[in-house]
Amino acid sequence: MEIAFSRLSERVARFTINGVSTSFANMLRRAMISEVPTLAIDDVLIYDNTSVLFDEMLAHRLGLIPLRTNLDHYRSRAECTCEGAGCPICTATYTLSVEGPRTVRSSDLIPQDPDTTPAEADIPIIELEEDQKIVLEAHAIVGTGKEHAKWQATTACGYKNYPVIRVDEKCDGCGMCIDECPRDVLESGNGKIRVIGGRQELCSLCRLCERACLAGGIGTEPAIHIDADENRFIFMVESDGSMPVLEIIERALQYIRKTSDDLVDVMKEITGEGTV
Ligand code: SF4
Ligand code: SF4
Ligand SMILES: [Zn+2]
Repeated sequence: MEIAFSRLSERVARFTINGVSTSFANMLRRAMISEVPTLAIDDVLIYDNTSVLFDEMLAHRLGLIPLRTNLDHYRSRAECTCEGAGCPICTATYTLSVEGPRTVRSSDLIPQDPDTTPAEADIPIIELEEDQKIVLEAHAIVGTGKEHAKWQATTACGYKNYPVIRVDEKCDGCGMCIDECPRDVLESGNGKIRVIGGRQELCSLCRLCERACLAGGIGTEPAIHIDADENRFIFMVESDGSMPVLEIIERALQYIRKTSDDLVDVMKEITGEGTV
């Protein structure tokens, strides 16, 4: 398996994986979406709420705010020694106290642990008018996207097969496929069609170029052929800001390795392999 990054920042990664099956690519996608733990607000004590939002709606909005998550510090309540009671290892606490008139924003959530600030400061929560007020305490815990979308560390996570573009000798260089391509992937050169350098990955496999070629009356088969490489995939992943996107990828791969090892152990136990 080979991984090559064509783009990597704190929030966004674009990379190609070569030498894996569709099942593995989908397993990685699902692990990044639903198995990487993050913090999210799960419990809110509302002391005062004279806004137009019901308490439940307010708590729901708070739960969807991405929070910076250091998984070397925080662990889930199920794994914590406090046995679900809530302690600084499994729970991040916030206070919020705002009076109108003004917009309440995510930056108004004041964390006890400065490493767990909201990932974005400007997320609007509610507009308060004159004499309206919100005072509350919120508790965030670690969970995963498979429990609820609020614990999902990715905002976008998908893949496509690597496109393979081939032009055969029937091509007469008419250029109709260039005009039809919505991603500006093709160009002409020496009377033939070729892929513009560095733009092959942008091909969406829409096959409009093949249809344009056929519409030009070339016969029953187009001169340009679009195929998908079955063992090479282009991934695009965006973090919600709770942790760097590279950490999401690494933790998803660790999850896959651990569950695979666990499965092997179970199989050995069933078959008796490795026992005396
Ligand atoms: S399949 Fe679509 S995106 Fe790809 S080269 Fe053809 S027209 Fe362009
Ligand atoms: S439409 Fe077909 S024949 Fe015309 S340039 Fe494209 S591949 Fe060649
Ligand atoms: Zn605890």
